[in-house]
Amino acid sequence: MSFFSTRGGACATASQAILRGLAKDGGLFVPSMFPQITMEQLSAMSGTSYQNHAEQILRCFLEDYSYAEISDAVQAAYAPYAWDDHTIAPVKTLEDNLHVLELFHGPTLAFKDIALKLLPHLVRMAAQKNDEQREVSILVATSGDTGKAALEGFKDVPGTSCTVFYPSDGVSDVQKLQMVTTGGKNTHVIGVNGNFDDAQTGVKKLFGNEPFHEQMNALGKLPSSANSINFGRLVPQIVYYFTTYTRLVKRGALRLGQHINFVVPTGNFGDILAGYYAMHMGLPIHRLICASNQNNVLSDFFETGTYDADRTFFKTISPSMDILISSNLERLLYECAGRDAGQVKEWMQQLSEDKVFSIGVKRSKELKKIFWAGFADDEMTTAEIRRVWERDDYLMDPHTAVASHVLTQYRRQTGDQTTSVIVSTASPYKFAPAVASALLGADAVEDLDFFACARRLEKLSGVPIPRQIHELRSLPIRHTAVCEPAAMEAAVMEALKPSKDD
Ligand SMILES: *Cc1c(COP(=O)(O)O)cnc(C)c1O
Repeated sequence: MSFFSTRGGACATASQAILRGLAKDGGLFVPSMFPQITMEQLSAMSGTSYQNHAEQILRCFLEDYSYAEISDAVQAAYAPYAWDDHTIAPVKTLEDNLHVLELFHGPTLAFKDIALKLLPHLVRMAAQKNDEQREVSILVATSGDTGKAALEGFKDVPGTSCTVFYPSDGVSDVQKLQMVTTGGKNTHVIGVNGNFDDAQTGVKKLFGNEPFHEQMNALGKLPSSANSINFGRLVPQIVYYFTTYTRLVKRGALRLGQHINFVVPTGNFGDILAGYYAMHMGLPIHRLICASNQNNVLSDFFETGTYDADRTFFKTISPSMDILISSNLERLLYECAGRDAGQVKEWMQQLSEDKVFSIGVKRSKELKKIFWAGFADDEMTTAEIRRVWERDDYLMDPHTAVASHVLTQYRRQTGDQTTSVIVSTASPYKFAPAVASALLGADAVEDLDFFACARRLEKLSGVPIPRQIHELRSLPIRHTAVCEPAAMEAAVMEALKPSKDD
């Protein structure tokens, strides 16, 4: 299997695609075809471990990695001791036809861990395979959760470094605290005076900037990406769609071959795109439901066929979805255009010049056969956290609650009662103030700090505060750099310049 650029300019092996992150023409790497998982294989998967599923799916795409390498990477990433739940991604049942896939049992309490625990191993192996002597310098823009997960994943991995840019006022206090307290000799954390799109655009510009690559090369460094534009981030996310399905079959909640819906809280479109890839590989999915917060550029896109990023940016209580330029949508557009890279390039050019493009009525209709989209603002999200707690005794974080709300909208509007899975992307404790405020009232938590909110939730729900939250209180702050969006290049150079004691 080879990998193409969505903009037509590249052909690469899996390890090259993972090493480079983004294609030179600015496009995203996509697999040349979708390997098929048959019903027999699906049936054989039920009852086997998450690690086993991961190996099976990775082998389909990563053809220039040996089985032994894939197995080593998977065992290192999903060693049960590093996860709060030994099944890695447990599926909880709320009602007969309603389940929650919990993706937040890793070191940083959000779903990014699933991919970012694995990616550093794939990158390290890719460097070896391609005889790469330079340090692989990972550059990340984060809306909150990717940053910490990348830092934890790459921390002290030989031959790599990890530099994270976060919007200095756009992430929650705890997300920031998690990042700026990161240890490790090869980690750098820099605040950008702007929003997530500024940080992401800045990083993308660096990747497209030839003089920057030359400067890095002179320092013995190869810039690469751990954002969800990297195919190595996407492939581990395909796994849990299969796992969820086969676990539901095993429990008798689903017949083999029966179709299900997934509702996914969406920002950069990486998580839900992995579901779309799983569907193309043969997983019986009826609908993928795309849930946005008030930054509802995607739900408008699925409704109208026009992507219009020229709009007000809102800061919400689900900050990891505060995104207007949804990078991975480009991979969907590539499929939706019948793999016509010239067409994708045109749309992307319009997006970068005019902040808007349209795919036309016919293509939009095609997408609607698979996707349904809706959004929830903060008020609806808060009400949903409360409703689910009262109805099912289940604590949801705000991102998950956005999805839960949109599923309710979907069911009301379509009458479709297909068995559905809410993809839960963060622990409620990671967003304790918003969750406590939803359950106890804004007045009751007004004067409480993050940790006090977490204790109130623990008392209310009986669900213990994860150890990762306790640990944060005692760690020293190690990263204080801040820069303007226009000065990100200089900030990287400053962070990565060889220190005297190297
Ligand atoms: C990153 C993130 C999302 C959005 O996922 P995408 O792949 O960017 O669509 C949703 N919820 C949480 C908690 C996240 O960290």
